[in-house]
Amino acid sequence: KRMMSSDLQLEDSEIESNIRPLTLEDYIGQTAIKETIRIFIEAAKKRDEPLDHVLLYGPPGLGKTTLAGVIAHEMGVKYKVTSGPAIEKPGDLAAILNNLQPRDILFIDEIHRMSRPIEEVLYSAMEDYCIDIVVGKGPAAKSIRLTLPPFTLIGATTRAGMLSSPLRDRFGIIQRLEYYTDEELAQIVSRTARLLETPIIEEAALEIAKASRGTPRVANRLLKRIRDIALIKYEKNIDFTVCLKALELLNIDRRGLDEIDRRIIQVIATQFKGGPVGLETLAAAIGEEKDTLEDVYEPYLLQQGLLQRTPRGRMLTPYAYECFELGSLSL
Ligand code: ADP
Repeated sequence: KRMMSSDLQLEDSEIESNIRPLTLEDYIGQTAIKETIRIFIEAAKKRDEPLDHVLLYGPPGLGKTTLAGVIAHEMGVKYKVTSGPAIEKPGDLAAILNNLQPRDILFIDEIHRMSRPIEEVLYSAMEDYCIDIVVGKGPAAKSIRLTLPPFTLIGATTRAGMLSSPLRDRFGIIQRLEYYTDEELAQIVSRTARLLETPIIEEAALEIAKASRGTPRVANRLLKRIRDIALIKYEKNIDFTVCLKALELLNIDRRGLDEIDRRIIQVIATQFKGGPVGLETLAAAIGEEKDTLEDVYEPYLLQQGLLQRTPRGRMLTPYAYECFELGSLSL
């Protein structure tokens, strides 16, 4: 079998589109959100109106993009995907909006990274389904009003706090995605394994789930890597022993912490005497981007009760000292 890296990449993205759930029923976990959304979808369909604008927020990989696709599927409409940084000029956004069919969904990922002028175009688009475009320059310039098809905007962001309040206020439905439980992640792993035609026993699925930082994207990624290791190193399917050995090889502990998580804890303990330490200082000490630290690593460490935020910075919790046998607390 050929194993070129470009093939592998292609394969990965092909797999990606096959394993994304399409219906609310296949979308595992996030029970409260699903129940709420289901009601709003049914109401909108009954009234033959577009769904109200939806804002989804939470750490990366929890299923915001997937949920947007599910909502489009359940509404029976098309959806278009873009992202805050990809929209360069107000005209780009106007063109996208103008090309939608009535009730279509526009998904904007990283919506907090839109520039101000573009954000302002969205205000009237969201509220009144129209935009004002200025054509021409100087004294000859005039404003033309463009009426848009009634559409639904689904915005996703890792940080709701970075959204301006005029933008946030225009979303009728605001939902925060939560980390998944081990059982939910095990279901996701089993489902993906089934779709990849890699049989996996329940115990192994649960073990992968526990190592996945509460995040479906991590769970699916781990499954694929463990499947590779099982195939090449052990020449068999994923059983419990192979699973444990593969996780060790990938340097992931049973709490799901990876090298960077552990380094964050080590560095706070040793270089900063347990904290408090500012996020920027910490990022520099670890050699990671401040944004990555804040979006990806910190929320999970907070959720696990290993880290706490104080007005003076980040601190390790007594629990972190216990877990990592870091010696006595220097309080
Ligand atoms: P986000 O947009 O929040 O960064 P994605 O929607 O891209 O996350 O999801 C990441 C991966 O996890 C996708 O491959 C998707 O198939 C999977 N996934 C996310 N949520 C679920 C879910 N609730 N059930 C099953 N798979 C999921």
